[in-house]
Parts: sequence; structure tokens; C-alpha cells
Amino acid sequence: MSNPSLLILAGDGIGPEVMGEVVKIIDWYGEKRDLKFDVSHDLVGGAAYDAHGTPLTDETMARAQDADAVLLGAVGGPKYDVLDFSVKPERGLLRLRKEMDLFSNLRPAQCFDALADFSSLKKDVVAGLDIMIVRELTSGVYFGEPRGIFTEGNERVGINTQRYTESEIARVARSAFELARKRGNKVCSMEKANVMESGILWREVVTEIHAKEYADVELSHMYADAGAMQLCRWPKQFDVIVTDNLFGDLLSDAAAMLTGSLGMLPSASLGAPMANGRPKALYEPVHGSAPDIAGQGKANPIACILSFAMALRYSFDEGEEATRLESAIEKVLADGVRTADLLGPEGGSPVSTSEMGDKIVEAL
Ligand code: ATP
Ligand code: MG
Repeated sequence: MSNPSLLILAGDGIGPEVMGEVVKIIDWYGEKRDLKFDVSHDLVGGAAYDAHGTPLTDETMARAQDADAVLLGAVGGPKYDVLDFSVKPERGLLRLRKEMDLFSNLRPAQCFDALADFSSLKKDVVAGLDIMIVRELTSGVYFGEPRGIFTEGNERVGINTQRYTESEIARVARSAFELARKRGNKVCSMEKANVMESGILWREVVTEIHAKEYADVELSHMYADAGAMQLCRWPKQFDVIVTDNLFGDLLSDAAAMLTGSLGMLPSASLGAPMANGRPKALYEPVHGSAPDIAGQGKANPIACILSFAMALRYSFDEGEEATRLESAIEKVLADGVRTADLLGPEGGSPVSTSEMGDKIVEAL
């Protein structure tokens, strides 16, 4: 059997810098664990625009559709601000998400013990935290019709529509239950069924899918406002949280800040299963291209490396290897190795992007 394929789209700014460290990790797995991937590289964002006049070519799009997983760095930068909206770097990423139909956005909030002091919350609230927010990414109030600014009588009215079909709710719910089985086997679904019709349907559909297909997973429901409060009060009560596009946007940003730096946060966006049973998948750090530090060897590669760990776990069923990688990162942080973004106001001497990558390889 051939090796699983991994398409790397490093993109712009610090994207290629952090991706370089991921490639070191991938090479290590090939050599030391005999876990080999067919890796190919292509362009996205500003880099693709510079080469081809478009932020994503049809050829690259087709390769992404065929890959077992896509790993993306970051897109954009001030150089491209003047471009027409239709060829802006971000459009390349949006096209990938849309055409791969990546409806399930996974954002973990995971706190490495060594960084617990770095969080905005009390240490015992976040130390050892490991939760996952599953956000519906392709529907809801961001896309529902009618939308627009209209005139009503003698004033303007801005309208958005929260709209969810049963099948849209069902597929993201399944994705959350599947995830929970690979983790703590617990799902909390959040909506506002007390005031929203879409919330009532959301709760009904999640409950039905659970009873029919996932009765082994523990399910609870929470109103999203209460959920936000609980997330700040005692986040460790959760394992997987599943919620809609808008609530997921808010809750995942809040959860992210439980843990510290933008340079630490990975994400995955998953779609429907392909013929080989693997979900369509794109993995990327939450951070952007960070033009202010690009080209200086300062970027923290951990968010991108953790995104690869998510690929190991969720695309390639290599949960143990993912844990090995996360433990190596934990060890390096416990040893006090820090990129500049992980240093507090008291300062210290930071390591470079590639030194951090080397340390993680050593720890592996
Ligand atoms: P985008 O619009 O692409 O999300 P942005 O400007 O909103 O971009 P980032 O590019 O993520 O956000 O940068 C926000 C800040 O965080 C910048 O000061 C940047 O230097 C810092 N930052 C982002 N990623 C990293 C990283 N991996 N390591 C260190 N600092 C980072
Ligand atoms: Mg941003």
C-alpha cells in the first residue's frame, strides 16, 4: 500500500518558517518510527498570487481534494493589501474551505503545565486543560438568507438570518461524537434553545443522533451563555463542545485565551469522509502570517507542529504518535525553552524558530 499523502501549503509570512520545523518532525517520523508520508508542496495565498496571479490555482485545488490531509501555514501580508478582493491571499484559503466543504472546525484549548502561569486564569483552573470546541463552519447566521441592509419606513434595518437544516446539524454532531470517542467520550452541545428556533432544532437533532448512533457517549446540553460562563469558571468539566458557527466563533476564541499565546494554537477543519474513510481535512495554526516578525526567525512553530499532531490523530489514526509529539513539546517547555512570544514581562532569552524545532526533535 502506498503512503498516505500530505499536501503542504506553507503560504506567506511566517508560514514557510514554521512549516520548515514541521517538515523536520515529519522526517523524524519517517526515519525513526517508519511512519512515512508522501509529502508534496504547493503554493497558496500571496505566494501563489506572485507566481500565478491567483491565490489558489485549479491544479492546487485539485491536489488538495485528492490529498489525505492538507497542512497549511498562513496566508496574507501587507504587500497584498492593495489587491482586488477577488485575488486577495485570504480568498485562497476560503476557496479551499468551501470547495472541500469543511463543515466541522476543531479548535482545541490545551494547556501545557509549563505554561499554566502564562494564562490569564488561575493556575489550577487551566493546568492540564484539554478540551475541544467543534464549531459548525459552513452555515448558520453567517450565510443564512435573507441578509442585507434594507430600508423600512424611514429608517434602515440590518438583517441576518440564523438558518440550520437538519442535515447540517446532524453532520457536525456526528463529527463531534466521533471525536469524543477518541478522547474523553463526553459531548456538551451549546445553543440557545430557550430563545431561538434554530436552537430548538439543534437540540432535537443532536439528541436524536445521540440516541440512535452514539448512546455510548455522554451527552449534555447547555445554553451558550451559560456555557461561556462555565468555560471561564471551570473549563475542565468539558471534553468536546459542539456548537453553531456564531457561538463557536465566540466560544473558541474565549477558550483559546485560556491557554496563553497565539503561537500555541492549532486547528483542524474536517469535511465528509472520502472513499478511503478518512475525512477531508485541512490543518492549520490559528495564527496568521504575522508580518511584523516574518523573516526574523522569531516565530513560534508549536501551533503548526500541533496542527500536524492533530493530523496524526484525526486523519491517520495515529493517536499514540500524536501524544508522543505533544509530550515532546511538553518536555521542551518544561525545560524552559521559550520562543519570544512565550516570555512574560520579566523577559529571558528566547530561542529561534529553528532552535525550537530542533529541541522538539531532540525530545522526540
Ligand atoms: P490574520 O489576519 O492572518 O489572522 P493577524 O494580523 O490577525 O493576521 P497574526 O498574523 O496571527 O494576526 O498576528 C497577531 C500577532 O501575534 C502579531 O503580533 C504576531 O507577531 C503574533 N504572532 C502570531 N503568530 C505567532 C507565532 N507563531 N509566533 C509568535 N508570534 C506570533
Ligand atoms: Mg486575525
